[in-house]
Amino acid sequence: MKFDPSCIQFRLTAGMVLASILGFGGMTAWSNFRMQHILIKGHKDNAVEIAERFGQDVAWMDKTMPSTKALEKVINYRSTADTVIWIRSPDGTLIAQSDTLEMGSWKQDGLAEELLELSPGHKLESIQIQDRTLIVCISPLDVNGNLLGDLFVIDDITQNQASFAAVTRDLTIGSIFVIGLSALVIAIYVRQSIKPVCKMNELAANVTPENLADTHLEFDRAPTEVRDLAKAFNMMLGRLSGAWEQQRRFVSDVSHELRTPLTLVHGYLQSTLRRCNTLTEPQREGLEIAASEADRTIRLLQDLLDLARADGGHMRFHIERVPLKEIILEIIEMSSYSSDRVKADIQMPGFEARADCNRLKQVLINLIDNAVKYSDADTVVTVRLKQEGEWAVIQICDRGRGIPTTDLTQIFEPFYRVDEDRCRTTGGTGLGLSIVKTLVEGMRGKIKVQSKPGEGSIFTVSLPT
Ligand code: ADP
Repeated sequence: MKFDPSCIQFRLTAGMVLASILGFGGMTAWSNFRMQHILIKGHKDNAVEIAERFGQDVAWMDKTMPSTKALEKVINYRSTADTVIWIRSPDGTLIAQSDTLEMGSWKQDGLAEELLELSPGHKLESIQIQDRTLIVCISPLDVNGNLLGDLFVIDDITQNQASFAAVTRDLTIGSIFVIGLSALVIAIYVRQSIKPVCKMNELAANVTPENLADTHLEFDRAPTEVRDLAKAFNMMLGRLSGAWEQQRRFVSDVSHELRTPLTLVHGYLQSTLRRCNTLTEPQREGLEIAASEADRTIRLLQDLLDLARADGGHMRFHIERVPLKEIILEIIEMSSYSSDRVKADIQMPGFEARADCNRLKQVLINLIDNAVKYSDADTVVTVRLKQEGEWAVIQICDRGRGIPTTDLTQIFEPFYRVDEDRCRTTGGTGLGLSIVKTLVEGMRGKIKVQSKPGEGSIFTVSLPT
């Protein structure tokens, strides 16, 4: 299948995938942000609580033991492996510190020394020292209304941060996986939903005047919009088929109604010309022109009638095995051309094909007539018969002026004539080749043309054997 970025399927899929990326991605980012915020806030609250209760705890202990001892006791009671506490007097002397500060993990790389350098004041923040994340809470320590100095509470949250990063990573990988999976599901779903539209497109592309009346779109399980569209499309096809039928009947009726009186007129003109000896030369000439125009119009009406009948499916074909050589020779003999104008080249004598004898004769007469009409009188028109696989092939070849390439695809259209023939001198109606095509296809055959301007044309009729 061709990739088309402007098709509905691609747009819907891309839109839904984008929406799921924004949805899942946004949710992951938001929960990361919230978790990080809650983690830091929880540790800050913990540090603040230690700082707030520290003064009360020391005041309580002060009653039973000397001050320094009370401070050390409370410090060791409040500090943990990840939380260190120390107190510095207003003149900068270290009054007391938690034992954990002496532990290896805090001593490593001079972290404890670096921390003890922290300047006093009021501070609550998260800082990054070396590769550790620390919550720092520094506040004045007040015991029974006396300012003892500054209390430093440091909480190491590096481990928690690492666990949090692992959760974030898992969440991100999970989101990517879910997004990929949903993209796949969405693509399949959209493809399934769009299928009836593609089917409809296919059917619409194959509608021709012949199958117009029989084409009907049926989508029982399609989405409502597609079913409505199919219904509207069916109604349109119905109207189109009605209009087509009406036009065909009109052409057929008019041709029929005009042909009868015109045949009478033509008959009268002919008999007047034959019997009346008193006509002056100008009168005779006028009547001859009228008779020839009437004849041309009768032929045109007959062609129109044939086409209308064929289009309406009212043309009957009596398909039987016909001897092609005999038919070709009969047509050449029957035609009034001079003996060296049309020649037969038959490679397969006794060869038969499945066709309607009379319609085939009509086809050959039309094609040979054209070949003679559109080539010089001193050139030969050859009718060739040969076999190609399952097909009997009849070729009518002339050495005439040929057909321009731009006209080749259109010459089988009704009333189409190559520019230089659009005058009436050659006497054609422009319907001959469309009748030929209709007849050949009615006999389940094929017709094609090859032509080179200035060199001649070859019309090839293939009939099933
Ligand atoms: P017409 O009645 O004008 O001959 P046709 O349908 O038979 O109508 O042919 C359509 C047009 O195709 C002709 O007007 C002519 O221009 C062209 N044509 C048909 N056969 C030949 C041919 N053998 N050589 C050159 N042009 C041809």
